[in-house]
Amino acid sequence: MSYMSGKTPVNPKRTMTAQLRALGNTVAVLATVFMVLLVAFVWMLTAISKQSKSKSKTETSATTTVSESTSDTSATDTTETEPETEATTAPAEHASFPEGTKLIALTFDDGPDKCTPQILDTLEREGVVATFFMIGQNVSGTDAALLQRMESLGCELGNHTWAHKTLTKLSEEEAYEQLQKCDKAIEEKVGHKATVIRPPEGAGLLQDGLFKYSRDNKEYVVNWDDVSCPADWQKPARGDAEYTANHVVSNATDGVMVLLHDSYQSTADALPAIIQGLKDKGYTFVTVSQLLEARSAELGLTADAAIAKGYDTSLVAEAYPGGPVYGVRYAYSASKMIFEVRKKG
Ligand SMILES: [Zn+2]
Repeated sequence: MSYMSGKTPVNPKRTMTAQLRALGNTVAVLATVFMVLLVAFVWMLTAISKQSKSKSKTETSATTTVSESTSDTSATDTTETEPETEATTAPAEHASFPEGTKLIALTFDDGPDKCTPQILDTLEREGVVATFFMIGQNVSGTDAALLQRMESLGCELGNHTWAHKTLTKLSEEEAYEQLQKCDKAIEEKVGHKATVIRPPEGAGLLQDGLFKYSRDNKEYVVNWDDVSCPADWQKPARGDAEYTANHVVSNATDGVMVLLHDSYQSTADALPAIIQGLKDKGYTFVTVSQLLEARSAELGLTADAAIAKGYDTSLVAEAYPGGPVYGVRYAYSASKMIFEVRKKG
């Protein structure tokens, strides 16, 4: 029994169980610690990943901002480039007049002729400009000095076909050639083509050859004001300078083109009284191009107006901002300027 007393007898089975239990506890603690560490690690990883994601996002948006600002810069560049292009297409002399200025464009057709020098003398003396719609054949037989004098006085040179042909009686090609030959004759004298066209008899404003030539050469097509026109080629105006002058002065209105001819002595003789009468009424004398440029916006002749009306944008693309449109026929009817552009289709 002594064996039984004294030290507590060791139960080997029980000791093993206790050891196992202790081991299990240790493993459990270790596992818990491991799990906690793992969770912490995963959480850290997630946090880092989130942070890096948001960081890269910031970088991306920064890149976007940069690229946007780059495209802004290029947009600015484009805007800065455009006016240069426009400036190239715009005529050198762009007329601008104070609001309320009454403008008038005297025009002389069918020359150069016997009365042209006298007309130029009057214009020079009065300090007034006019536009000469010349016949190519006449230009060809004229001393270059006469055309150069027109230009030195600030007058404008216009194309009135080579042989004063009525365009409606011609084919498209024939009309084009008539205008081309006239321009060539003018170019031989002064080194450049005409800037405006008036078809003989005012006919054929819708003629394809005229339309094409105007567009190809950037020359405006114009007619005239019926009301102020004295019809100087026939009686009672023809042969009566006083009648001619009175008719023009009393019928002139702001912004019109007055049709005269430098082939009639009575017209040349009437010119001083015409100019004086119009000056007394407060008119400023301009060339046809100056008139179109000054009044195109209010007359609805601009490229924007044409596009808004549904006209072919490829045809108005050659127009310059704020000005009238090439390839367009400008005409007068009862003092009211009208214009037409070919519509799409
Ligand atoms: Zn004519």
